[in-house]
Amino acid sequence: MIKEAKVIIHNGKQYIPDLRNVKLRAPFRGRPEISTEKVDEQALVNTCPLGAISTNPISIDLGKCAFCGECAFAFPEKIKFTQDYKLSTNNHNCPKVL
Ligand code: SF4
Repeated sequence: MIKEAKVIIHNGKQYIPDLRNVKLRAPFRGRPEISTEKVDEQALVNTCPLGAISTNPISIDLGKCAFCGECAFAFPEKIKFTQDYKLSTNNHNCPKVL
């Protein structure tokens, strides 16, 4: 019940009325963007508790990522989470963001 109340307080409704045009607000984390900024890649890989980040080039396996945001907190110049929620795919070999 408390969880549902939090959703209503945060979003105003318990459902999303217009799925195609909705603008989700922070702290929602959607599709990550990876910049071309040079960082310590091994340190970045080590920040991920789930092993979702790999190098050459830096990429995030969205099948493993829990969207905890630790990598973006530690390396805000390299990784940024957008509010884009359209992350699903029918291709099982294609869940990585480069
Ligand atoms: S958001 Fe969390 S789980 Fe996802 S890649 Fe970053 S550190 Fe790993």
